[in-house]
Amino acid sequence: MTAKIIDGKAIAAGIRLKLRERVKQRVADGARRPGLAVVLLGEDPASKIYVRNKINACAEVGFESRVHHLDDSTSQGDLLALIDQLNNDDVIDGILVQLPLPQQIDDNIIIEAISPAKDVDGFHPCNVGLLAQRRPGLRPCTARGVMRLLDEVGAVYKQGKTVMIGASNIVGRPTALELLIAGATVTVCHRFTEDMRAEVERADILIVAAGKPGLIPGEWIKRGAIVIDVGINRMPDGKLVGDVQFDSAVERAGYITPVPGGVGPMTVAMLLENTLRAAEM
Ligand code: NAD
Repeated sequence: MTAKIIDGKAIAAGIRLKLRERVKQRVADGARRPGLAVVLLGEDPASKIYVRNKINACAEVGFESRVHHLDDSTSQGDLLALIDQLNNDDVIDGILVQLPLPQQIDDNIIIEAISPAKDVDGFHPCNVGLLAQRRPGLRPCTARGVMRLLDEVGAVYKQGKTVMIGASNIVGRPTALELLIAGATVTVCHRFTEDMRAEVERADILIVAAGKPGLIPGEWIKRGAIVIDVGINRMPDGKLVGDVQFDSAVERAGYITPVPGGVGPMTVAMLLENTLRAAEM
């Protein structure tokens, strides 16, 4: 058996096309274009690539976007002042502060300073709380992207077992909450899970977000399972790989995402959807 490849790049392109049409209609109806402000501190190469991708995607769908590129020695007070200014800026619907932040800044204080109505990353405790209470507001983008890929291949949540590897605030936890809302029976594994193999072997739907290259060997995967690999790991030779051993997993899974070209483009597409939603709200 060879798995069908879930083409996140193509699915995300389809979502952007639809967003572009919605923006055109919005503008034709006399409304302003949605506006996204991205705040980047320092020169981390990966963060710079992510920010560039987000800005390019904004241009493609017809959003206004603005980058605030600050020095990595920026104080927490100065960053909070910028967020306050953006919270009160009428042409900005979404604010995204690219993580990780330099050590003099407390991520949690910054996330909490963003107005929940402009929190297009979906990380504000208010939005996470709403998700936990099954009445989602702005939803974390990667988790949403994972759900859209699962929906795309007709995942059946209410039967069988779903396993989420990784329990971070950014990916694992919100994805587990989304899966619960969809009716899945979810097991969450993390670095303290004792027999992860046994959990993986039972999974009809497997989502992996550990940030450990090749953590999951193909032999562990249940035949026919849907496998979503969120991991993005840069190897010494510059190649990007996921957390799942793709070559062996593809022989057993029913569906699998590639890295790159799986979840990554979906995260950006969901950020755009959130920004349009914030503008409409
Ligand atoms: P993180 O380091 O914050 O969290 C990793 C999680 O995996 C933790 O809960 C940890 O307990 C668990 N874990 C680590 N090693 C493990 C092991 N050996 N066995 C079981 N569990 C283990 O990372 P994160 O921010 O959640 O990101 C995870 C991966 O997803 C990274 O590779 C990151 O680059 C990628 N990522 C991709 C996207 C995307 O859009 N595709 C978005 C965000 C993150």
